[in-house]
Amino acid sequence: MNKDKHLTSDEISGMLKSAGLSATSQRIGLCRYVLCEAKHPTVDDVRSWAAGQGLKTSLATVYNTLHALCKAGMLKDLRFPHSEKVVYDNNVDPHHHFLDDDTGSIVDIPITEFDYKNKLGSEFEIHDVDIIIRGKLKLKD
Ligand SMILES: [Zn+2]
Repeated sequence: MNKDKHLTSDEISGMLKSAGLSATSQRIGLCRYVLCEAKHPTVDDVRSWAAGQGLKTSLATVYNTLHALCKAGMLKDLRFPHSEKVVYDNNVDPHHHFLDDDTGSIVDIPITEFDYKNKLGSEFEIHDVDIIIRGKLKLKD
């Protein structure tokens, strides 16, 4: 599950500076969206969110902000089999994903759901696990 993150403008500003970026109001706005509010957005999602907020940002600003956040380890860039587009994930802890084949919705699955370590032989040294489970999300009643 994505943890609910609440970051103040000062915290975001500090994160941007430590990632080597100047903390402009556009970047702080973008960060608030990608680090706190959005779940697995694409660049298009980020841009349409910014447009909806009346935030004037260039495509270059969106890209260099996302790239710097990834480089600083605050965001992960992922690819999924249903789309060519990169998806940005603010849950940087190890976890798996469920992909809805019909809608493209992506849901975080806790890593504890799969105890892979005890199921693989000792000849496998695991560096990372990135399981994508594909199916259909059903409405719970
Ligand atoms: Zn995720």
